[in-house]
Amino acid sequence: MTEPWKDRIFTNAGPLPLRSENPDDGYTVEDLVPHGWAPGEYVGPCRECSEVFVAAKRSRRCRPCAVKSLEAYRNRPTWQSGHKGIPTDRPVWAYFFDSGGEDEHVTLLRGVSEVDGEVFSAECNPDGDEWPRFGHVVCWIDFEERPSLSVEAVDAIVVALSEAGIHWSCGDHIVEDWLHREALRAVVDGHRDAPAIAAAALKSRELKFSRYYG
Ligand SMILES: [Zn+2]
Repeated sequence: MTEPWKDRIFTNAGPLPLRSENPDDGYTVEDLVPHGWAPGEYVGPCRECSEVFVAAKRSRRCRPCAVKSLEAYRNRPTWQSGHKGIPTDRPVWAYFFDSGGEDEHVTLLRGVSEVDGEVFSAECNPDGDEWPRFGHVVCWIDFEERPSLSVEAVDAIVVALSEAGIHWSCGDHIVEDWLHREALRAVVDGHRDAPAIAAAALKSRELKFSRYYG
């Protein structure tokens, strides 16, 4: 007579199954694999919560922790084009096209958007002193730490360029030139996503707007 329970591991929650299956709760195995879980029959502790679980050999998280990680990823702050939806009650990071003064340029600033993104009260030191800048928010992200240029940011900038034309008059080609310089800089700096950043930046060439410096 066999005793199927004999070699099983008992936990506070009872015996572990010999093999885990993926329940039908909307999270597929494909969703969860990048977050460290797949069904299988190996027993081990979760690196997140230390709970012992049964899963595929290389799983590093139990399923609940993998679901939590997936949800956090799905809800992460992302780059948004233009000024649409920008919070005006707290500072965010933004690539800002500065059109005030003769030296028009784009900078990454942290500050509060005002007047539909045409004024940006940028923090200029840790004491919270502000410096109002005049121009246009190119894209923004609601994030505490200073972000770096990513493929996602470049995509948001290209979308902003495709929608900007009428608002920025000749500002868009200045933004485009700056974007292409930044992409080259990513290559020079050996940024690990440099080829993807460069490819995303070059998509702006398909947009039609005046590239005339007058
Ligand atoms: Zn866990």
